[in-house]
Amino acid sequence: MFYLDIVTPDKPFFSDEVEMVIVRGIEGDMAILEGRAPITTPLKIGKVRIFQNGEEKIAAVVDGYISVVDNKTTIVTEAAEWPHEIDVERAEAAKERAENLLKSEKDNIDIERAELALRRAINRLEVSNLK
Ligand code: ATP
Repeated sequence: MFYLDIVTPDKPFFSDEVEMVIVRGIEGDMAILEGRAPITTPLKIGKVRIFQNGEEKIAAVVDGYISVVDNKTTIVTEAAEWPHEIDVERAEAAKERAENLLKSEKDNIDIERAELALRRAINRLEVSNLK
């Protein structure tokens, strides 16, 4: 067991002892177990899978970073939601907005920004389906 904290600018999102956490790092999925060597590395938009008392909890996160120090893991991200907290209509609207921007012929579009918005929306819709 080790301590996991997930922190967002709004609130401490999660703080408890866990058995394992799986995150989407920049080089792919990373499983953190007790006793892991220290690391600090960026996270991608995706899911955080928390394993605790034989159960798995899944949250949607946007990008951020994860740090493991002294057997304590901290995830800092701009936004995190549990499946039941996700407003599906809002995520669908965000997805549509981003898709329309990416399809449009205007030349002043920030493609990278629209792609990130699209990925956040798709991730939220996927996580919301897990409830
Ligand atoms: P939108 O365009 O709908 O604001 P976004 O991807 O730009 O979506 P973020 O900047 O990632 O939103 O998040 C801003 C805040 O809104 C965060 O607190 C996040 O948890 C919350 N949030 C965003 N989308 C949803 C959603 N579909 N359901 C619940 N909370 C959401």
